[in-house]
Amino acid sequence: MAKVNTVLGPVTPDELGVTLIHEHLVFSYLGWECDALAPPYDRDAAATACIEALTEAKGHGLRTLVDATGTDMGRDVELQKIVSEKLGINIICSTGFYTEKYGKAGYFKFRSMNYDIVGELFETLVKEITKGIGNTGVKAGVIKVSTGHARISSYEEKVLRAAARAQQETGVPIITHTEAGTMGPEQADLLVSEGADPERIVIGHMCGNSDLNYHVSVLGKGVNIAFDRLGINVLFPDELRKACLLGLIGIGYGDKIFLSQDCWAFRLGRPFEFADEVKPLLADWKYDHVFNNIIPALKQAGVSEDKINGLMVENPRRLFGGG
Ligand SMILES: [Zn+2]
Repeated sequence: MAKVNTVLGPVTPDELGVTLIHEHLVFSYLGWECDALAPPYDRDAAATACIEALTEAKGHGLRTLVDATGTDMGRDVELQKIVSEKLGINIICSTGFYTEKYGKAGYFKFRSMNYDIVGELFETLVKEITKGIGNTGVKAGVIKVSTGHARISSYEEKVLRAAARAQQETGVPIITHTEAGTMGPEQADLLVSEGADPERIVIGHMCGNSDLNYHVSVLGKGVNIAFDRLGINVLFPDELRKACLLGLIGIGYGDKIFLSQDCWAFRLGRPFEFADEVKPLLADWKYDHVFNNIIPALKQAGVSEDKINGLMVENPRRLFGGG
């Protein structure tokens, strides 16, 4: 049987249970460390914040959280281990890269003048999956790739090609970041053309878009999609996300959809407060929103317990290699 790398060691796909496919523990836009007035990172405070923020979701049955923070987004593997151990849930760590605009593309872009960075990126991803991350002993269990708004840069394309090859080599799933749900079909085509298994791909942030034609065209490529920014009404209204979800489940795509919230519990850098007019639009942006609000809304609209179990348990189990 397939084994899934979690931060505390391998588990079977059957042990994953209720899974959130795209969340973060710590996050900050890169460059926070250039802010002379930013307080130093406090891992103990971060662990406390994460455990507190995740406790209610755990009470609803959460068993596994995928931390979608790639190598260049402030990922903290030691923190993942502490939270997993203390909270008693599986955490799956990502390897992979953020967008060219907001990630740390400079190093590999410079090398690309002289070297084949698709090969180098591939080696990096495979190393983190098969040998582990630095000397932490933690092996990545998922590959994260990202593209910008309405275009895929040359650097991002190379990352996607490397990810597809690394997936072939290791078998781990690929999850993606799309900007406002754009470039979903292009991501799917690129990954599949490079040899990735469509059933082991989740095109992310598709819930930034309510065009059913668009959703069906992406699903038609055999890949999965994620409604993984539930609760972030400031980007797109949950009302339309729910309408799309119900439509897609209604026409038989429930076994291709993942639900999550793209939350984080701890922010690096100076304190940041959203503007007063934005706050109500983020009131539901919590790790437990799917459990407290989205699942009840789906049930009220007639989605069966069995189909909910499919979204939260069976789809992740299959994605990670469960037969
Ligand atoms: Zn994210």
